[in-house]
Amino acid sequence: MQRLQGIAVSPGVAIGEALVMGNEGFRIPRRFVARDAVDTELERLERAFAAAYVEIEQNRDTVSRELGKEYGAIFEAHLQMLRDPKLHEELDQMIRERHYSPEYAVSRALRRYIKVFQSLQSGYLAERANDIFDLEKRLLRNLLGRSREGISGLTSPVLVLAHNLTPSETANLDRRFVRGFVTEIGGAGSHTAIVAEGLEIPAVVGTGPFLTDVSGGDLVIIDGDQGLVILHPDEETIARYTREQEQHRSQAARLETLRDLPADTADGVAIQLFGNIEFPHEAPQCLERGSQGIGLYRTEFLYLGAEREPNEEDHFRAYQDVVRAMGGRPVVIRTLDLGADKMAPQAADLERNPFLGLRSIRLSLRNLDGFRVQLRAILRASALGDVRIMFPLISTLLELRQAKMLLADMMEDLEEHHLPFNRDLAVGMMVEVPSVVILIEQFVAEVDFLSIGTNDLIQYTLAVDRSNKDVASLYTASDPAVLRLIDRTVKAAQGRQIPISLCGQMSGSPTYTMLLLGLGLRQLSIAPSAIPEIKRICRSVTIEQCQAVAARALQLDHARDVKSYLREELKKVVPDVAG
Ligand code: PEP
Ligand code: MG
Repeated sequence: MQRLQGIAVSPGVAIGEALVMGNEGFRIPRRFVARDAVDTELERLERAFAAAYVEIEQNRDTVSRELGKEYGAIFEAHLQMLRDPKLHEELDQMIRERHYSPEYAVSRALRRYIKVFQSLQSGYLAERANDIFDLEKRLLRNLLGRSREGISGLTSPVLVLAHNLTPSETANLDRRFVRGFVTEIGGAGSHTAIVAEGLEIPAVVGTGPFLTDVSGGDLVIIDGDQGLVILHPDEETIARYTREQEQHRSQAARLETLRDLPADTADGVAIQLFGNIEFPHEAPQCLERGSQGIGLYRTEFLYLGAEREPNEEDHFRAYQDVVRAMGGRPVVIRTLDLGADKMAPQAADLERNPFLGLRSIRLSLRNLDGFRVQLRAILRASALGDVRIMFPLISTLLELRQAKMLLADMMEDLEEHHLPFNRDLAVGMMVEVPSVVILIEQFVAEVDFLSIGTNDLIQYTLAVDRSNKDVASLYTASDPAVLRLIDRTVKAAQGRQIPISLCGQMSGSPTYTMLLLGLGLRQLSIAPSAIPEIKRICRSVTIEQCQAVAARALQLDHARDVKSYLREELKKVVPDVAG
């Protein structure tokens, strides 16, 4: 049994067979072959080796010709490794005696070598691990041939284990079969994490390297509450987690009874809970969880994973579906927030510092034609229900004014074409950049509502990449600086009497509910799965209690003190809260 600590990003427990994604995005298949197939499997392995020799020799000859013999020698080392009699003996024994499939045997044997190299202190030798990865890939490619499979086309339940999954790969996971996933890299605020929460499957990211220790078909447990991954669990651990799964199910059933009750506090103050969605099909999920509207519709997922750029009709149809599903309840459509980690894979490597680069509203204001298409579609959807528009990542007043001007232009355009829309549609913006909070009084005078995006606000305030596991401990909503920015923003909105909501991941974490209500927030927008639990907390507390908690939290100097104080206070009111 092996335990790995990662970052918990989507709650719940999953127990099942591993599906290990190779670095090239194809599956490393299951473990065993039939007893009578051993000889043919060994022949298949030999053929894969032979094909790999030929490929490497060709590479060696080409590189030697183009760059000189010393460069070609790199491939000699690969050939030597492939010829190593000990490797052949080991593989032979795994296949003959343990009936491992050649793919499983190759990946198991080579990954053991990789681990040894990776553990060496010498940088040069550790680098050699990449050569062995390369050999593994080459052999697997030859073994799997044309039949190699990606992450689609699953036929039985699996837990996906991968080095990384992009937000669109995550969004495309087949929920009928993928019961959870783990990635070696990634942080709590990454969009992969956000999508996982939307999919409602347990997920852990940022475990560090472990794929060398596991192969397809191995039994794995994902503990999405504690951020734990357990490889090859023993009977006792399986029994314990099976009980936990049961508890999760009965807790979910209990919370379901709250669906049609209001989220008002125990002393009768109205609280509105909205849902965050990435896809139109999530709108009914929000209603099932008792959401009063959509507080954040992240429209960039219309782009990610799409084969072509969406046109006005694609936009309009998606918005129409959401607005119809919500039956007259508010729907806040956020304009494109592409860029940084929400990036088409081919564009991902172009920027050195993508979170500070051409992303979000900046990108929309550079690509005016595309922006107009989206604005027109949102305006047309505003004729169908209570649609509100929100601009992401505003960092200057000029950006806000430009975006609003373009919206006004599009209104004229629709009017000229006699197309219906709501001229009074509410126009809001996200508060995600400290510069906005510094000038918040000016901003509140120019919008109809605000929504605080703590996922980015934390990142830009503390200078911590939200998707980098190596700085994950610094990425926290409990930081006193973050609390003060929220406090200031809420006060400015109240001063101007405009609605304010908070739609970052913080709003879905029970730890912060009392604080946020105490700071004056009355609207939270949350991943649908978290709505019932947050509603239960809202219904259990009084505003007076929350105000006392917020006042005390604002006096503390350190993030960890804030967090433990908030947990303590929450436990006093809701003793059975998870975590
Ligand atoms: C945020 O930054 O808090 C937010 C809600 O937007 P996103 O997570 O899509 O960047
Ligand atoms: Mg954001």
